[in-house]
Amino acid sequence: MWPESISIFVAVVFGLIVGSFLNVVIVRIPQGKSIIFPSSHCPYCETPIRWWQNIPILSFILLRGRCSECRKSISWRYPLVEGLTGLLFGYSVLLFGISLNSAIAIVLIGFLIPIAFIDYDEFLIFDVLSYSGIVAGLLLSAVSMNFSILISAIIGGIVGAGSLLVIRGLGNILFRKESMGLGDIKLAGLIGVFLGWQLTLLSFFFGAVLIVLVYAIKAVIRFHPRPDERYPFGFYFSWAAIGMLFWGNKLMEIYLNFLHLSS
Ligand SMILES: [Zn+2]
Repeated sequence: MWPESISIFVAVVFGLIVGSFLNVVIVRIPQGKSIIFPSSHCPYCETPIRWWQNIPILSFILLRGRCSECRKSISWRYPLVEGLTGLLFGYSVLLFGISLNSAIAIVLIGFLIPIAFIDYDEFLIFDVLSYSGIVAGLLLSAVSMNFSILISAIIGGIVGAGSLLVIRGLGNILFRKESMGLGDIKLAGLIGVFLGWQLTLLSFFFGAVLIVLVYAIKAVIRFHPRPDERYPFGFYFSWAAIGMLFWGNKLMEIYLNFLHLSS
């Protein structure tokens, strides 16, 4: 029997390798470059990175965070993305075992991590990521050979994107300016295809809660937050969606039980 700990270990290692690739995606998509060619090189001196310098996290530690040629420092973002992807893939298998659900979780995380970090850097969500994510989600639901899963993915995408479009319209009227980018609408469609419409709306809610929390923490630390400071909504929306992927159903269950008890 294949012990559970080995599956989790394999998922973590797989996540570290995927995370290393996601770093390339995060840097190159905003530059309009190919994510496959050329192979990785130092952004300062263009020296190609050799295989032993490209081992997730380990190479960063061995190189002490510096390029082996020009000694310029490498961003801590690289090992962070690798480590996060490894942990989240491992947690998916811990929670869902080897199943269609953990495949769905891993693919969703694989799209949300680059979307989150690119939005953080650029305030942009690229269509190539949201559209290919929507297609991947629909294909995965089709693979399940379960008609209700496929229908729920389609409804999730339409209702997820549709309700954000309505919220955006209301926000535009309320704030008399663009309240949310169209990229956030497509991201809601992507999250909806994977999580269904209920968890997408919950992700939207918790994304907003996260922004309020960050704003409050910054206000306490700095005392005077800049009123014009912008928050990349897609970044917080993506992390809230990863939270809902893991704990959303549990949360809804607790809430429904609570309603049942109090009525
Ligand atoms: Zn260099």
